[in-house]
Amino acid sequence: MTKQSDINEMVSDFSRVYILTILHEGPVHGYEIINNFRKVIGKDISPSLVYPFLKKLEQKKLVTHTLKPVGAKKRKIFELTQEGREFSEQLFKRFSELISVALEPSLEVCAHCGCKVYEGGYMERIKDRDLMFCCIHCAGAYKQSLKK
Ligand SMILES: [Zn+2]
Repeated sequence: MTKQSDINEMVSDFSRVYILTILHEGPVHGYEIINNFRKVIGKDISPSLVYPFLKKLEQKKLVTHTLKPVGAKKRKIFELTQEGREFSEQLFKRFSELISVALEPSLEVCAHCGCKVYEGGYMERIKDRDLMFCCIHCAGAYKQSLKK
């Protein structure tokens, strides 16, 4: 039996990824994240998930904030750093690969470029994992990116 708490945990992971997609579109207020989430996903996201997550991203230098006056108040506007952009793009790529594999279980996806490998492909063992690539060049580029 799957526990409700497990489901909640996974949904919050998904919510965090979704927050990153909002940040990726451009600078936002915390409450805009909450509004956008409600509009697109149709569910409320708890501020107690959003703000600590933003804080954690700031500590990891993936996000910065600036204070902008709104009326009499100053509000924080959050923005991805260059590192944060790269981080989230990699994460989205990884997610879309996982999702396309889940939807089409017989399908392999190139571990580097994310394109679908319908037949053949190029398999290589990297760091004790058998990885599928569309071609030997992607395998090379993938190994190169690990060295960075
Ligand atoms: Zn490829």
